[in-house]
Amino acid sequence: MSDGFHVYDTTLRDGSQQEGLNLSVQDKLVIARHLDSLGVGFIEGGWPGANPKDTEFFRLARTELDLKHAQLAAFGATRRAGLKAADDPQVAALRDSRAPVVTLVAKSHDRHVELALRTTLEENLAMIRDTVSHLRAEGQRVFVDAEHFFDGFKANRAYALEVVRTAAEAGADVVALCDTNGGMLPDELADVVHEVVGAGARVGIHCHDDSGCAVANSLAAVRAGATHVQGCANGYGERSGNANLFTVIGNLQLKRGMNIVGDAQLAEMTRIAHAVSEATNVTLSSQAPYVGHSAFAHKAGLHASAVKVDPNLYQHIDPLVVGNDMRMLVSSMSGRASVELKGKELGYDVSGQKAAEVVSRVKDLESKGYTFEAADASFELLLREELAGARTSYFTVESWRVIAEQRPDGVQISEATVKVHAKGERIIATGEGNGPVNALDTALRFALERLYPELANLELVDFKVRILEGSHGTDAITRVLIDSSDGKAEWGTVGVGENVIAASWQALEEAVTYSLLRAGYDPS
Ligand SMILES: [Zn+2]
Repeated sequence: MSDGFHVYDTTLRDGSQQEGLNLSVQDKLVIARHLDSLGVGFIEGGWPGANPKDTEFFRLARTELDLKHAQLAAFGATRRAGLKAADDPQVAALRDSRAPVVTLVAKSHDRHVELALRTTLEENLAMIRDTVSHLRAEGQRVFVDAEHFFDGFKANRAYALEVVRTAAEAGADVVALCDTNGGMLPDELADVVHEVVGAGARVGIHCHDDSGCAVANSLAAVRAGATHVQGCANGYGERSGNANLFTVIGNLQLKRGMNIVGDAQLAEMTRIAHAVSEATNVTLSSQAPYVGHSAFAHKAGLHASAVKVDPNLYQHIDPLVVGNDMRMLVSSMSGRASVELKGKELGYDVSGQKAAEVVSRVKDLESKGYTFEAADASFELLLREELAGARTSYFTVESWRVIAEQRPDGVQISEATVKVHAKGERIIATGEGNGPVNALDTALRFALERLYPELANLELVDFKVRILEGSHGTDAITRVLIDSSDGKAEWGTVGVGENVIAASWQALEEAVTYSLLRAGYDPS
């Protein structure tokens, strides 16, 4: 990336302030590699000296990170009041991190200087001047984060601007204006940025999402002249989070025509967003702009018929540009067009009368508690049945039963027996498990694995149970969704029944059937 515009990621520092997000040093290294492959210019690794884990990160980064695009930035504060920068151990830790860039947080709101730092406005300016020039002399590039800048600007405009000037004169390359409390709106924020641009240093922007405007504020700042934008992967951060860097990158590149990252890198953005969410162990919102699983999913019938004619009619961009994909969701809300499109997505030609029949079957099943939006595999089996006039089947079930037992020592164990017919044989198998569904799964595999060895690759990755209200005086029913994987792909199946075991069995049977279909076996 050129030095013309800075994309600065702070996932590893500000993003990790998010409630429930805890990153090990190894997680941080993994995330840094992902961000680098996306092509961000700077990765803020943490606060060496203040946090032993961050000191360790910078130490390991020297040998374990081979960054192709990004430079590492170490974050820290200006020197303490009344001390020389050269004598401040906290400043020494920044120097010793050997990060090519140091980002110093500095107070720019007069009240914060007096109340939080408990020093004078003059001393705060001296702290900035002294720390910036010391680190510059040590050979590091220095950026300054002007904390609470917008609130400070409202309270004491002259002082806030003096902070920017002081940092620039001391040699800071960037002064990032921070909306630390995240309460700004785009129009007022842009006015302030506009006034600061031209004060000497490159102006940057650092937004939090407390008003729901972090991305909008970042874009407004860029329009007003900021050429350095900070944010976090997937919008991680304290409270409502930081500006979502992926959304910012998508918007700047695709809406503003800026050359932020390469096209090939942008096409990796969805994959990277999901990979980062694996590392943070925070589920990525399916509604996340550009990269969410639902970002290009169409459900309503009217939309679907238009999407069939021209996908661009209901999509703001071509999803492939960011590595995402259009999906059709099949539900009772969708009409024939969605079914035709979904069929096409799965590789089947469903049109005309057949599509109408599938729609009415879906509506009927949904009224009984089924759902197909998260059960692609069950939908595909239904589609095949409608097209072929018979269920795709590799085995028939004679019976199953399961016993759940609590032993005197408190251990709970379940045992299941299944009787199935496959390839002309009657097979009886038993299986044990820590619960009834687990036991049924084991027994069914025991029964079939000899005839279908590929079943060994099948894994149940997620299991969701929901109790649905009965209608018209009937009892409540149970819906089970199972996600399965064969190591290459994941698929969902659904079962509905009077109890959780019956519903699970149905979803399980379809999961096994679908995995055999995927493995290329001919149905019996
Ligand atoms: Zn922040």
